[in-house]
Order: sequence, then structure tokens, then C-alpha cells
Amino acid sequence: MENNNYNIADLLNIIEKEIDAIYIINEKKNNYEAVKDNPLFNKILGKSGNYFEMLKKLIFHFDDKSAGVNEKYQVFLSNLNKFDGKYSKRIKIFSDDTAIIAQMTIYPLNKDGEYIMLITEMDNGVYMQDFLNFEKELGIDSTYLFTMHVNLDEDICNSVSVTEMSEDPMNYTGLKYSQWRMTIVNMIFPEDQKLFLEYTDPEYLISHLELRRSTTLDCQMMNLDGKYIWVKLIFKKIQKADDNFCFVFMVQDIHESSMRLIEDLKKYEEMSIRDPLTGVYNHGKIKDELYTSLNRLKNEKIPFSIAMLDIDYFKKVNDTYGHASGDYVLKTLLANVKEHFKEYNASIGRWGGEEFVIIADNMNKEKLYEIAEELRIKIMNYKFGNVGNITCSIGVVEANENETALDAFDRLDRALYSAKSCGRNCVICG
Ligand code: GH3
Ligand code: MG
Ligand code: MG
Repeated sequence: MENNNYNIADLLNIIEKEIDAIYIINEKKNNYEAVKDNPLFNKILGKSGNYFEMLKKLIFHFDDKSAGVNEKYQVFLSNLNKFDGKYSKRIKIFSDDTAIIAQMTIYPLNKDGEYIMLITEMDNGVYMQDFLNFEKELGIDSTYLFTMHVNLDEDICNSVSVTEMSEDPMNYTGLKYSQWRMTIVNMIFPEDQKLFLEYTDPEYLISHLELRRSTTLDCQMMNLDGKYIWVKLIFKKIQKADDNFCFVFMVQDIHESSMRLIEDLKKYEEMSIRDPLTGVYNHGKIKDELYTSLNRLKNEKIPFSIAMLDIDYFKKVNDTYGHASGDYVLKTLLANVKEHFKEYNASIGRWGGEEFVIIADNMNKEKLYEIAEELRIKIMNYKFGNVGNITCSIGVVEANENETALDAFDRLDRALYSAKSCGRNCVICG
């Protein structure tokens, strides 16, 4: 062949030119030494140092926001030293806020734990930008934080891929599933740890999981920065080419959708307790509040008083100005009531129609009477748009610890009825 006229010295020259950094590693002594480096790698790794620290720098994707990698994640490093032979992986390192993509290749030098590590920086520019964007957009890489094959019968983990750290699978040899499980449990949110152990129990998985079926658990797990995020743990039993089966374990990032779901649930929960027109509690919720306050009175001797407000001649408002104006009055009235009770610990609810209940905790009936009287005057003087002035009648009682909720409401109803009988636009204490 015409081109085959290189000798070993030429090749060494090429290696010298093409490879940015070469290190000799002694895994047993846990150290490394540079044979060759360039200013960049010299700055990042120095001439020599601790091999474990070196791996930390190369494997974890530090960026300017991360002060460092959460200690618990280092579990993935301790297994990295167990190379069987040549080992190659793409790494991303940050230096002065700039990401550097490099290829790291390791060859064993001998059986005494000495290795040679070659690092070549990859082209900057378009390739790297594509790579960084690709990583962000690629669904599988960004949603699956972790995947691994497990042989439960032999207690072995294979092909572990920690996408939060790197895109490439790492082949750990000799990583025991039982050890892995007991280490990972520390990265799970404390309250979810018991469930994690139940779901990952090998006996449970072997006896409960059918072929091609999966089992999942949503829980919170610590990420690289040490923050808890919502993840879905997935275990699936799959068939291998040799007719045996193995388990696949995946951790999927579901943080954003979980947070959205939690927000939505909160919204629905809010909606289920509120009256849509006025925004105050609905009948069911204010009744619950009454039971809660009665229990507190019985158990903790915390007194409370209740007021019931009913608009005077409201039917006339509807008849004269129409239902929409009636709705406007209800909305505006309740905005006033809320404002009036803002400084007190009070729950306000719509009992039905144009009747509203106010439960004021830690308050006797004299005080609530005083506040209700101020409110009555405020409403009397308020101009409700084209409807003009309206008045309301209010009944007030103080709950006593020997009565039932029904008894208390009976008394309240009677107080309101008295206010109506007394000519309306007044507050009566029952
Ligand atoms: P009183 O002084 O005796 O309380 O007279 P009233 O006309 O207010 O009598 P009543 O309490 O029996 O009437 C309540 C009216 O409230 C009847 C109904 O048309 C009206 N109403 C109930 N709910 C709503 C609502 O959501 N919107 C509107 N616009 N009107 C309502
Ligand atoms: Mg009324
Ligand atoms: Mg009424």
C-alpha cells in the first residue's frame, strides 16, 4: 500500500499532536500523573492528584450553578475503578462557564491497577452547540435520569446509565443490586424510603412481576445539586435474547408535570370548597368549619361566635333590576364583608341564596355584635351601582360547648328571624 510508510515515531508524533492530555493512573494508590497535557487540562486537573477527585471533575457535569455534586451521587464513582479493559466515554466539563466536550479513553497497562488515560477535546463550534441542544431536546435523555439492567437471581447490575451525569452507559462490573439498593435509598425523600424499599425488594419483584409487565412508584429523589425532584421509578421484566429474562430499572424525571399536577389539584380542591359567585366558602365547607370550631371549643376551650347575614327584601332587587344586578350586589356585598373581617380570624361562607355565615374564632358574642353592627352601617351607606342602597339583617350567637352544631344554628336562625321581625336593618344577639 502506498500510504503505509509511517513508522512508530511518526505515529507517536501524531498522538502527541492529536491527544490533548495523557495520564498514568494508579488505581490502587488512587492517584494520577500527567505524561502530557495542555493549558486547559492543566488548569482543570493539574499535573497529578487524587484519582477519585479527577473522576469527580471529569464525570459530573459541573456548571456555574452547581457548587458541587451532592455527596450521595458519588456512589456512582466508586464503581468506576473496576475496569475490565479498554473503556471509553464522552465527557462534558465546565471551565470558566464554558462547556468542553471531550472523549476519554482508558487502557489497562498491567494487572497491577495501572492505566493510561487519553483525553481528546472535541471540536468546538457547531458540533458542540448541536450536542448541547440535542441533549436538552432529546426526550429520552432528559426524562430518563437513570437506567440499568438487573439480574436479580445473581444480584448483579449491568449497563448503568446515569443521564444526569453523562449520556453514555457505564458498564459497572461487580456492582451488586443489593448494595446499590441500600445506597440509592439514601437519595430518596425520607418519607418515601419505606415504599422504595418495598418496590425494589428483589423477592417482591421476582415473585410479583410478570414478564413484560412493569411496576412504578412516584416519589421524590435527590438530584445532582442535592435538591429533591419528583421522579417515576419504573421496574420492568424483559426477555433477553438467550431466553432468560432480566429486569430494567429506570428513573424518569417527572418533576415539572408533577408540580403542575399538584398545582391543579390545589386549584380543584380550592374550587370544591368555594362559592363561585362570591368566592367565599360554600355551604359544605362552612359547615365543616363550624364542626371544627365546635370541636376546638370542646377540646381546647377556644370560644367562638357565629353571625348570619341575610339581605333585606332581596327579591325586590332581582325583580326591579334583574338577576344580573342581584348577582352584582351579592358579589360586591361579600367583597365588603371580607374586607370588614380581614383583621379577624374569621371564616365566611354562603349558607344558601343571599344568606351568609361568619364564624369568628376566639371571639365572644359582644365583640362579634360590635363588628357586625359596624358592618351593617357600612352596608347601609354603601352604593351598589344602579341598585343603590340595600340593607341587611344579622343574627349573632356565641357557641357553647354543650350544644350540637344543629342547636347552635337553631339559635342563630332565631336571632336572625328576630332581626327581621324587629323591622330589618339591625343586628340581634341570641
Ligand atoms: P327578607 O328581607 O325577608 O329576607 O326578604 P327577601 O326578599 O330577601 O326574602 P328571601 O330571603 O326569601 O329571598 C331571597 C331571594 O334571593 C330569592 C332569590 O331570588 C334571591 N337569590 C337567591 N340566590 C340568588 C343568586 O344567586 N342571585 C340572585 N340574583 N338572586 C338570588
Ligand atoms: Mg333576604
Ligand atoms: Mg333569605
